[in-house]
Amino acid sequence: MTTDTQSHTATEPVDESAIGESTDMDPAAKRKAGKAALNELLKPVKGMLTLGRALAVVSSVIAIAPYIALTRIGELLLAAYRAGAPVDSAALRSNVTLLVAAFVTQLTVYFVALGVTHFADLRLVTHLRKQILQRVSSAPLAWFSESTSGSIRKAVQDDTKTLHTLIAHAPVETTAAIATPLVLVIYAFTIDWRLGLLSLATYPIYAYLQYMMMADMGEKTAEMDTKLGEVSATGVEFAEGIEVVKGFGRTGKAHSRYAEAAERFAEFYWDWCGPLLKGSSLSMAVISVPILLFVNLGGGALMIAAGWVSVPQVLTCSLIALVVPMVIEVLGMTAWAYQLAGNSALRIVEILTTEQLATSSADQSEDAAIWAHRRYTEPVGASFENVSYAYVSDGTRIEALKNVSLELPPESITALIGASGSGKSTLATMLARFRDPDAGRVLIDGKDIRQMSEAELYRSVAFVLQDAQLMRMSIRDNIALARPDASDEEIRAVADSANILADIEALPKGFDTVVGDDTDLSGGQKQRIAIARALLADTPLLILDEATASTDPDCEAEIQAALNRLVLGRTVLVIAHHAESVIGADQICVLSSGRVDAVGTVAEVSDNAYWQRLLRDSGEEGQNNG
Ligand code: ADP
Ligand code: MG
Repeated sequence: MTTDTQSHTATEPVDESAIGESTDMDPAAKRKAGKAALNELLKPVKGMLTLGRALAVVSSVIAIAPYIALTRIGELLLAAYRAGAPVDSAALRSNVTLLVAAFVTQLTVYFVALGVTHFADLRLVTHLRKQILQRVSSAPLAWFSESTSGSIRKAVQDDTKTLHTLIAHAPVETTAAIATPLVLVIYAFTIDWRLGLLSLATYPIYAYLQYMMMADMGEKTAEMDTKLGEVSATGVEFAEGIEVVKGFGRTGKAHSRYAEAAERFAEFYWDWCGPLLKGSSLSMAVISVPILLFVNLGGGALMIAAGWVSVPQVLTCSLIALVVPMVIEVLGMTAWAYQLAGNSALRIVEILTTEQLATSSADQSEDAAIWAHRRYTEPVGASFENVSYAYVSDGTRIEALKNVSLELPPESITALIGASGSGKSTLATMLARFRDPDAGRVLIDGKDIRQMSEAELYRSVAFVLQDAQLMRMSIRDNIALARPDASDEEIRAVADSANILADIEALPKGFDTVVGDDTDLSGGQKQRIAIARALLADTPLLILDEATASTDPDCEAEIQAALNRLVLGRTVLVIAHHAESVIGADQICVLSSGRVDAVGTVAEVSDNAYWQRLLRDSGEEGQNNG
């Protein structure tokens, strides 16, 4: 016994080859990858799921008892009726007791089984969310960058929920759905093998009809793919070439190619679906209640007439026959749940295995220690040195920043202004390494941020962006995102500073309110929660993206007050859209087409064209503000 069986933990990286890219996969490969991902995710709760299944089997076995009692009761009554004598009340009572007790026990065991799996679900979901959030808090880049924030949110909010059916319900329900009918049919056979056969009589027909339908499914599905491909190809052709085609006055012709392909597809689809639907309803009919009753009671009556079986036996076996279709229904439903859950598991695993930013000294274990004493005692400055950056999308280069240099002195507020598309967001978020410059350097406290570990970087920089980026989890967790270890007192304190404490406490569930689930928060409330989060993160550097339009005039003042508290003592880079918010800044940087157009104090940039325009526009907007 020297070999140690390999044990995995959930945090261990998953076999990537089995998972790979979730997009552009053929369905079979995707299903397989989903299954692999699912197995990996379920590992931590495997024991509990097995226990749930075992209990479901126990409950299924107990399920025979009521049928046994039922048959006996029937026989007692029948015997009494035939003999014209009173019923043996002691025997009747004991059988009724058995019936009730067995029924109650069976249900109890079943619910305990469900309880076990629900507990497993709760544990796993909490565990997964924590893991995802840890990932997010140590790599905000992945969270905030536009391309992935959607999938991460989906993973936290929806995917962990999709897993619920699979973990909390499927193990018990599928096991019971198979075990109960199986055990009961076996019991039917023990009553009388002919009755047992009768209870399954219609299934060969059902299986045959299903088989006929599925037989050419693979081929037809492939054909459908081709035909669909044809439709979309000609559709694209039609759309792309529309100007050319129009120019040459041949609209009708190009369009007819598309219309023909679409028509061919529709015809094919109907040819395929029609018989399929008919076959499907026919096969469902042979296992429907009326047919089952007809076959079992009818066949049973003949057997009674032949003297093979008793009336109660036929009734019991007919009841059993009605339970069997449950297998098909539940299995169909779970197959679907598995497919969905597979896709969810893939997304979750993808996030948990996402590459983090390459850093020189990144070390995960370092995180906790750093958070513990992360408060900077000295203000920290930052600077951009000859930074250039180009987005490349679909082969075209968009030069967003061209040789930008900007100094952010410690504890200063720098307002970044410029026309839409001038590069403000690109420049500001570069400070948090949303992307690295193609040329040039970004320094924090004189250190190239590429030389910093993630933990070091994110204890230096926090951001409050326009879209407040709240996730579907409790307000407490939303605030504690950057510091999951924060105490309740700390969270209350920052909520208070962010002017949101009263609003949160007014909610029925307070800090436990789940954003988006229990309540809809206003834009201003969300923003103040984001501010509370940044306050808790307590970083010396701050990136702010001022809202373009005031979300809600009533709380504008409260937001402003919260922001004022947030920026206090920090080095701030704010993307500003209003002249008023720029006035208080220590310096203004005007960007124009990715270049620094002007930089300096309000007085120094006073003759900059964009600044004058902003001033004029704000003046019109805020007439009554003076
Ligand atoms: P601003 O914040 O000043 O509006 P941005 O920094 O968002 O400007 O954008 C600067 C330029 O980069 C714009 O031309 C914009 O179209 C382009 N750009 C921004 N984000 C992307 C992206 N993800 N992919 C491609 N181009 C982008
Ligand atoms: Mg922007």
